[in-house]
Amino acid sequence: QYILAIETSCDETAVAIVKNERELVTNVVASQIESHKRFGGVVPEIASRHHIEQMTITLEEALEESGLGLDEIDAIAVTEGPGLVGALLVGVNAAKSLAFAKQKPLVGVHHIAGHIYANRLEKEFEFPLLALVVSGGHTELVLMREHGSFEIIGETRDDAAGEAYDKVARTLKLPYPGGPHIDRLAGEGEESIDFPRSWLEKDSYDFSFSGLKSSVINTLHNAKQKGQELKDEDVAASFQASVVDVLSTKAVRAAEEYGVKQMIVAGGVAANSGLRQALEEKFAAVDTELLIPPIHLCTDNAAMIAAAGAVAFNQGHRAGWDLNANPGLDLEMYGERKK
Ligand code: ATP
Ligand code: MG
Ligand code: FE
Repeated sequence: QYILAIETSCDETAVAIVKNERELVTNVVASQIESHKRFGGVVPEIASRHHIEQMTITLEEALEESGLGLDEIDAIAVTEGPGLVGALLVGVNAAKSLAFAKQKPLVGVHHIAGHIYANRLEKEFEFPLLALVVSGGHTELVLMREHGSFEIIGETRDDAAGEAYDKVARTLKLPYPGGPHIDRLAGEGEESIDFPRSWLEKDSYDFSFSGLKSSVINTLHNAKQKGQELKDEDVAASFQASVVDVLSTKAVRAAEEYGVKQMIVAGGVAANSGLRQALEEKFAAVDTELLIPPIHLCTDNAAMIAAAGAVAFNQGHRAGWDLNANPGLDLEMYGERKK
């Protein structure tokens, strides 16, 4: 069984093919990062236009690489949300056109379900499991008791982890997206600044990163006023230590409280070397198995959409010809809806 998937929720035009739910056949990602860099972030109108230009090329490339014809594809999966509406629409319309022309079943996929299912291309899921989702727009702990079911036990009350990375990077005048740059600098610095950790209420699995971001900005500002020299490397290392400390501590506590078999890490910030290391150390001491996807499956791609779409398809989910982009699609509701 072959599932072809399309992902265009943000600034990557991506097409992938997955065989039998878990085998990656082809994964093509056309990134627009270079076009958005000079604006310091993703410009929605530019993103939509690039998706239109890249969609057909990316599709043809994926099919060519796989050696498969469209007739051999069993279903078309596509990210229906959340994301930028204009960007999502390009993928949704491409998927609908393909499915209609070839009379193939169509499956709508939640982008974050995709980030989580990226891990299943590496290792089979064992339930119950928890997913630590850390991306550009989301930071949440998601409990899965079975395939396609998602319960959010904690989430950010303000900025997402990736957003905090990108904002701090911008303050340090690093290029967009800043996460990888901070990660690199952090490896060369000392944790010499004691930035706050927001644990929130004692039992809460929620997160908050806006206070930390403000603290970094204030610290830089005060140092400048006093004529003190702060090394960017030390700021990066101290900032990263705060983020990683809170994320990894809450993840372990949740894993123990819910007695899950696996802890899955998902989203762009799962590429962070500090986070990967801290999680590996902490999970070595508990019974829960830790799964972190390879870097190319952490940031946006369509392989993850195919992986989640294949499961939804085999559970009987089908989208109609009225499938629409849904920029605010809710993960729990997406999991609850029936075919
Ligand atoms: P969402 O998935 O929530 O809709 P998104 O698709 O924009 O948001 P992703 O593509 O999953 O987000 O991840 C991009 C984010 O990951 C960016 O904020 C980027 O800075 C961050 N990121 C990527 N690599 C690293 C890294 N090594 N360390 C920290 N952050 C990173
Ligand atoms: Mg992205
Ligand atoms: Fe994403």
